[in-house]
Amino acid sequence: MLESEEEVKHPGQDKRVWEVNTYENEKGRWNVYPGLCKGCGLCIEKCPVRVIDWAKELGSAGTPLVKPEIDGCIVCGICQTVCPDAAIHIEYKGRKVPPSAVPVH
Ligand code: SF4
Ligand code: SF4
Repeated sequence: MLESEEEVKHPGQDKRVWEVNTYENEKGRWNVYPGLCKGCGLCIEKCPVRVIDWAKELGSAGTPLVKPEIDGCIVCGICQTVCPDAAIHIEYKGRKVPPSAVPVH
């Protein structure tokens, strides 16, 4: 089978690296990148309110993605901090934010 033109232009590049799954509540937005998550489960283990679980969707590594029960998320940012693959990005709304966080405008 011939490679597509895009595959020839960008050999080995995972197209899903630019995809993002976003969940939102009144405190902020919770984003996970399917092209980066390797399914290690560290975010599930470290969430202080235990609102992250496995999703049915697979990431580009072939492992299950994670998703939050967003209503219970306190937007503490711990999952973002512990993720070894920088696959989670937390955006805070309307309060003092940690230096690494990006406020929502
Ligand atoms: S931001 Fe905090 S509360 Fe929300 S999912 Fe991540 S670790 Fe859990
Ligand atoms: S810590 Fe990062 S790589 Fe590991 S399961 Fe969570 S989002 Fe995926």
